Amino acid sequence: MWDFETEPDFQEQLDWVEGFVRDEIEPLDLLFGDRAYQSPSPALQKTLDPLKQQVRDRKLWACHLGPELGGQGYGQVKLALLNEVLGRSTWAPVVFGCQAPDTGNAEIIAHYGTDDQKRAYLEPLLNGEVFSSYSMTEPHAGADPTLFRTRATSDGDEWVIDGWKFFSSNARNAAFLIVMAVTNPDVHPYQGMSMFLVPTDTPGVKIERNISVGGEREGMHALIHYDHVRVPADHLLGGEGQAFVIAQTRLGGGRIHHAMRTVGMCQRALDMLCERALSRETKGSLLAEKQFVQGYVADSYAQLTQFRLFVLYTAWQIDRYHDYKRVRKDIAAVKAVMPEVLHDIVQRAVQVHGALGVSDELPLARMWMAVPAMSLVDGPTEVHKVTVARQVLKGYRPAEGLWPSEHVPTKVEEARTKLAELVESEVGNW
Ligand SMILES: Cc1cc2nc3c(=O)[nH]c(=O)nc-3n(C[C@H](O)[C@H](O)[C@H](O)COP(=O)(O)OP(=O)(O)OC[C@H]3O[C@@H](n4cnc5c(N)ncnc54)[C@H](O)[C@@H]3O)c2cc1C
Repeated sequence: MWDFETEPDFQEQLDWVEGFVRDEIEPLDLLFGDRAYQSPSPALQKTLDPLKQQVRDRKLWACHLGPELGGQGYGQVKLALLNEVLGRSTWAPVVFGCQAPDTGNAEIIAHYGTDDQKRAYLEPLLNGEVFSSYSMTEPHAGADPTLFRTRATSDGDEWVIDGWKFFSSNARNAAFLIVMAVTNPDVHPYQGMSMFLVPTDTPGVKIERNISVGGEREGMHALIHYDHVRVPADHLLGGEGQAFVIAQTRLGGGRIHHAMRTVGMCQRALDMLCERALSRETKGSLLAEKQFVQGYVADSYAQLTQFRLFVLYTAWQIDRYHDYKRVRKDIAAVKAVMPEVLHDIVQRAVQVHGALGVSDELPLARMWMAVPAMSLVDGPTEVHKVTVARQVLKGYRPAEGLWPSEHVPTKVEEARTKLAELVESEVGNW
């Protein structure tokens, strides 16, 4: 069954979310946009608590997780529809308990954590009491994790972690880090790396500096030196050597969630483009009446609709198979096209707004910076395209003979043989 309709009950929820984000959360974006991922001040907490409570009362808190993992169990399709709205705002994912990188971190603790780890790390994360950070990329290697060098060695009933990590987002505000480290250098990295839960205040965790990406006022992405960091043996997440399996679980969800929020960002840019086209006059007519601008509107609408349907279809497959690996081709394809769609739509919106478009008086320049970030975060576009190509090619075989299987003269010959009698009888009629 194919069905492109939203259940009426959930549509009602979405309508409520639209109004709630616009009226209650966007003012926070405008005044405190750079504080969304920090521990809130008591005054900010007082404002946030009732907002979060409203979200909980509507059963919309932490929608990315199934009920067995502490979430609502709506599934990825409904999460996609919700994230389209939340993706327009900086604070909204925090107020709804589904902000990156905490969503992916919660997901892997829920999947692989022991009961004690869930109590200590997952519960406060799901309650929105703390933030977390994912510490995988290293200064010398990112896209190829087999090159990672950060080392964890077993010492009695402790692990000792040594090495450097780069771009650990929000480490400065995180209560704990999930760190990927080599535990057995003598086997293939796929079996020789493990994940660790490391409280940020553990001695030896040294944030050397916080790196900002274009436009951020404060650096959010930490360069961390793990200098003889000791954690108890039970801080290993999942089994020893399981880091790659855990990372795939995390990144599968993380990538599609980025795409869901990007749909929201693109829609916002398209809304701005259309409003401007209908508001600005030049050379005797509205921009909306110029064919170039009509082309921008039509191309943007078509690209966004294609992308949105692809995201929803991929989300539907995740709900259906509950297996990121089985859906990896489409997750990778969605991730690869995401920055391109965002680029094209934001670029047209900027262009139609002229000088105002590039200024900081509109959110477009900030959206523009998300383009390169989205083509790197959770793996570069090139790597995802390689994954897509490999998966697609698995469904094909080489041509058996000299000619391609669609070679017309060869096929005509085969058809002649198959229909020899008919050809014979029809000769006279040709
Ligand atoms: C905003 C942002 C937030 C991030 N947050 C986190 C985080 O919280 N935790 C974390 O661990 N990391 C994080 N990262 C890091 C991110 O995961 C890496 O940037 C990404 O994996 C690429 O690694 P790299 O930057 O080292 O680039 P490299 O691995 O050095 O790659 C550089 C370029 O080389 C090319 N390339 C690489 N591999 C291939 C290939 N196989 N085929 C063809 N071309 C290739 C691509 O053009 C690629 O962009 C974040 C990055 C950004 C931008």
